[in-house]
Amino acid sequence: MALERTFSIIKPDATRRNLTGAINAKFEEAGLRIVAQKRIQMTKAQAGKFYEVHAERPFYDELCDFMCSAPVVVQVLEGEGAIAKNREIMGATNPADAAPGTIRAEFAESVGENSVHGSDAPETAAVEIAYFFAGLELVG
Ligand code: ADP
Repeated sequence: MALERTFSIIKPDATRRNLTGAINAKFEEAGLRIVAQKRIQMTKAQAGKFYEVHAERPFYDELCDFMCSAPVVVQVLEGEGAIAKNREIMGATNPADAAPGTIRAEFAESVGENSVHGSDAPETAAVEIAYFFAGLELVG
């Protein structure tokens, strides 16, 4: 399997509860390397652009309000098959459906406030990484 990079966000519900370290431990234990990371406060416009693909969904406005309600930690994770591996570590979108031991099973508060974002494909990973990071900020 190829070495890949994926984009990750530790969401406001998790930064508020000081879960950044516990979530990063899950990534590192699974063999993902954090090759870039910064804590930022998104504006609603920035969150809206990031989640543009969901603009027609009923939860879009609530999701954008949530994502700019507190700081987030944006990250680039690197590893063998990093995109699929991260989705596995995250667990299902709804924590009620997330497998035991996954981040969302352990930490998520609801289907909306579900602690982490992770890219779902190589194309989205590339776009999402470029939205938040300059090339020089990625240190493998
Ligand atoms: P994932 O983050 O697992 O890839 P989606 O791409 O389907 O999931 O949704 C993006 C984000 O939108 C979710 O992580 C969650 O924060 C929010 N979301 C998804 N479905 C709902 C819902 N039914 N109600 C509220 N928020 C939702």
